[in-house]
Amino acid sequence: MCDLKQAPAYTRVDFHQGPFVVFYEVTQACDLVCQHCRACAQPLRHPEELDTETACELLGQLAQFPKSPLVVLTGGDPLKRSDVFDLVRRGVGTGLEMAMTPSATPLVTRTVLQRLHDEGLSRLAVSLDGVDAATHDAFRGVSGSFDRTWQILQQGRDVGLSLQVNTTVTAANLEQIDAIAESLASCDIALWSVFFLVPVGRGEQIDRISAEQYEVVFDRLWHHAQTKPYDITTTEAPHYRRFVLQRRGSPQGNTRSSDGVAHQRAPLGVNDGKGAMFIDHTGRIFPSGFLPIECGQFPSDSLVDVYRDSSVFRSLRDANLLRGKCGECEFRQICGGSRARSYALTGDALAAEPDCVYQPRQERLVQSMDENQDQYEKQA
Ligand code: SF4
Repeated sequence: MCDLKQAPAYTRVDFHQGPFVVFYEVTQACDLVCQHCRACAQPLRHPEELDTETACELLGQLAQFPKSPLVVLTGGDPLKRSDVFDLVRRGVGTGLEMAMTPSATPLVTRTVLQRLHDEGLSRLAVSLDGVDAATHDAFRGVSGSFDRTWQILQQGRDVGLSLQVNTTVTAANLEQIDAIAESLASCDIALWSVFFLVPVGRGEQIDRISAEQYEVVFDRLWHHAQTKPYDITTTEAPHYRRFVLQRRGSPQGNTRSSDGVAHQRAPLGVNDGKGAMFIDHTGRIFPSGFLPIECGQFPSDSLVDVYRDSSVFRSLRDANLLRGKCGECEFRQICGGSRARSYALTGDALAAEPDCVYQPRQERLVQSMDENQDQYEKQA
């Protein structure tokens, strides 16, 4: 999940009241043809895409949650909408933290980056899926994307934007994790977000890494989290939290950067529908972009009501409803497994995470871990 240094403190209780992060897919249009694209992005904008006025209403409604969520404008490519600057300005004006994930195309110019900065964008995230052009460009489906990504990072830094790099782990770049981590060390990013594939959209065609390989990647991420000048987080791999807690030997596991400063991070336990929400380009509301269970339709449904009261969202927030080993696991509150991956592979959003090697211990430890988690949240 994205996180920002100024994000308000959240607890599990807050997750019932509102999301920590909302992904708003402003358009499905994109000039890239990425292998793993969740959105199966198209070159042209959808005729039923929410118009500017309705999109601004949407942002206004998000600002009604008790704690304003971080809003990530995503796609497709958000820059395929010429009104995206208006949306950033409107979001910032209503008190929202606004972030964006543009595609690395010629639409991203220094002038555009400067304007996004001036409109108040809090974070710009770009994707880097290989340590070299051959790996990255093959993944993105367009040659030159690797070089353009690095150019965006450099120009984004020059205009003063806070930067994030997103990397999708696949069999093709598994051996490059360390090299990518090293390459990011000198480009002044705030966060490296490592995404673990959910087989939806075009991602259905890509081989997943094994559960054992997750642990290998977690080990490398943990190593780099100790030594690199940026924070590291995972997307659709909440079991990295279990891995970190196991390494720390304590439930108090907020990552600390090498500068010794504990940065404000996404709160423990964020998962699909639990502290997170996704709205697609036509206003359909989902627990996440990777969990295609439609729970409502904006503007006819209230975003606040759907997040709080939809039976799907409510069940996803209740770790005691998890099935299989996740339901028995002492880490279920802070992890719970990727609900999207469980749904994609089993058709049951509450089934056990298919890509976790962990075997829960005795039931008596479950309560103990929950109590430790409660204690942590009181102290946070
Ligand atoms: S068994 Fe489930 S809840 Fe436990 S660590 Fe693995 S994915 Fe997380």
